[in-house]
Amino acid sequence: MNEQRNDTQHDYRLRRAGLMIVLAVIATLIAMLAAHGIQAAAGMVLAPFRGSGDAAFTSSDEVMGGPGATSGETGEVDENRRPSVFDEQHPAVAHLDPELLAAIQYAASDARAEGIEFFVNSGWRSVGLQERLIDDAIATYGSREEAQRWVAPAETSSHVSGQAVDIGDFEATSWLQREGSAYGLCQTYANEAWHFELVPEAVAEGCPEPYRDPTYDPRL
Ligand SMILES: [Zn+2]
Repeated sequence: MNEQRNDTQHDYRLRRAGLMIVLAVIATLIAMLAAHGIQAAAGMVLAPFRGSGDAAFTSSDEVMGGPGATSGETGEVDENRRPSVFDEQHPAVAHLDPELLAAIQYAASDARAEGIEFFVNSGWRSVGLQERLIDDAIATYGSREEAQRWVAPAETSSHVSGQAVDIGDFEATSWLQREGSAYGLCQTYANEAWHFELVPEAVAEGCPEPYRDPTYDPRL
């Protein structure tokens, strides 16, 4: 009788231990899902409070797929309705490299906790928009040579490939210059305080010295 009860208690303990393990696994899964879903959730919750500069987005594939915009999308940003880094309906944000987008959203969440808001002054750009910016820069600076110090050719532009984002305003760029390396985000050019690209090694090694301007960038 005694022995049987011990067995029963033993079984009960085993079952309880099994149940605890299952619960722990479920809790871990929920925590992981929450951590990964939080950016998307934040974007969804905040989306209604932000203007979307461009309503022309088509399928969720377009949004998740990084560069690969539909024709007609330029990524142009209306300076009076600049998207946040969470406004994934805006082509300038939607077609950024997914890893760059994740890093800048992660950084923006932490900066927001300090009361600092990130705006996207420019992100992904179509070839057509890049060419227009080059023409504008030539008009502004007087020569193609001088314009290239500010606007890269369309074929090599990191904006056209979705691998660069121009962030505003001053407080946000200052924050990123200070804290960005922890997120793998680095200022690329000394003359463009707002232009950030993903440099994964920066998390461990810090950001490399910025190039003086785009004409010193060997990738361009
Ligand atoms: Zn830029």
